[in-house]
Amino acid sequence: MAEFTMELNDEQKEVRDWLHGFAADVIRPAAAEWDEREETPWPVIQEAAKVGIYSLDFYAQQYFDPTGLGIPMAMEELFWGDAGIALSIVGTGLAAVGVLANGTEEQIGTWIPQMYGDANDVKVAAFCSSEPDAGSDVASMRTRAVYDEAKDEWVINGTKTWATNGGIANVHVVVAVVDPELGSKGHASFIIPPGTEGLSQGQKFKKHGIRASHTAEVILDNVRVPGSCLLGGKEKLDERLARAREKARQGGERVKNAAMATFEASRPAVGAMAVGTARAAYEVALDYAVTREQFGRPIIDNQGVAFQLADMRTSIDAARLLVWRASWMAINGKPFTAAEGSMSKLFASETAKKVTAQAIQILGGNGYTREYPVERMHRDAAIYTIFEGTSEIQRLVIARTLSGKPIR
Ligand SMILES: Cc1cc2nc3c(=O)[nH]c(=O)nc-3n(C[C@H](O)[C@H](O)[C@H](O)COP(=O)(O)OP(=O)(O)OC[C@H]3O[C@@H](n4cnc5c(N)ncnc54)[C@H](O)[C@@H]3O)c2cc1C
Repeated sequence: MAEFTMELNDEQKEVRDWLHGFAADVIRPAAAEWDEREETPWPVIQEAAKVGIYSLDFYAQQYFDPTGLGIPMAMEELFWGDAGIALSIVGTGLAAVGVLANGTEEQIGTWIPQMYGDANDVKVAAFCSSEPDAGSDVASMRTRAVYDEAKDEWVINGTKTWATNGGIANVHVVVAVVDPELGSKGHASFIIPPGTEGLSQGQKFKKHGIRASHTAEVILDNVRVPGSCLLGGKEKLDERLARAREKARQGGERVKNAAMATFEASRPAVGAMAVGTARAAYEVALDYAVTREQFGRPIIDNQGVAFQLADMRTSIDAARLLVWRASWMAINGKPFTAAEGSMSKLFASETAKKVTAQAIQILGGNGYTREYPVERMHRDAAIYTIFEGTSEIQRLVIARTLSGKPIR
């Protein structure tokens, strides 16, 4: 087990500086354009693929870093560049992790390369879980997968919503109900291969922020996929369902806890994205505060402005510490006895919203215009308190853990 450290090692520093260079030279200069276009920034993803940032290798290297700091460090730098573009770059990773976590070696080898494509022909992937009536309440999911034994095929019907890269992805990973009696333990994940009949994009959402990231409904109308598209395989699913039925008979709460533990491990990554956006806005505000003069002196010479910057920086550093702690706990298999993963996401996302609003205030009228990036960063920051579990759901999870009640 790696000791918890607050300092990056030399190799990590090198990767961080390389990512920062890409974020500063390629992502940030393109941010305003793709925000206005509200389209997937394919040329930027392609650039990221050429240098090796948009690849499974890079993602896996950071993911398995024993210090736990690889992913938060990478997320912070990329999202410092721009949240919408960065989400377009890392969105595929969310689907790939679903396959890495649940897929067989053969599934990993077959599908993950098709999720990324290559530098000359980049592809993206989507992870589709949320539905119109199943957002926070995942157990209400209705998309149904039924096994057709005669053909060894799964037939999937339902509507997914809010899917990042939904409809434009080469490979979709879709979560569906296979046993409605078991709540979220009766769910399974399926690969929907490129060009599968019956899968189509529904509405593409026009969003408040992260507008360079494509978000859409995904409609599944009698989608048929081979048995080999069930992640983990049928035998493993049958065993898991049998275990879940048995556990449900003994006491359903223990069943729910296992699923929540996975979220505890993935939420710090979203916290790190929020830290990146908050830090970006703070830096713009600090720079502005030392150069903008009113009443014959820089505005930072007013305590009212300087104290805001002090609070912004303090919150950002505190958020990063919570994120790093939870990431270290996740990679080292430490139990989240106080829902530390949810804590990190809650604090970092609320910090990003607050800090970006303070940045607008410090820039005055300029902060309110699209001539400066902080209004975009503020619009972008609002997503962090919503996706991967809203702030209210994080508080619910933390409160239930503290009060000794099972997480659900
Ligand atoms: C831009 C974007 C990208 C996304 N990408 C993906 C993706 O790639 N894949 C995917 O599957 N999903 C994705 N999502 C979906 C996201 O995870 C959900 O929006 C989120 O989980 C909230 O669900 P909901 O929108 O249905 O809100 P609801 O669950 O309807 O919540 C509405 C409000 O009620 C509150 N609330 C609900 N239940 C409780 C409670 N018990 N106690 C207190 N308050 C409560 C919530 O906190 C919220 O404030 C994305 C969403 C967005 C906006």
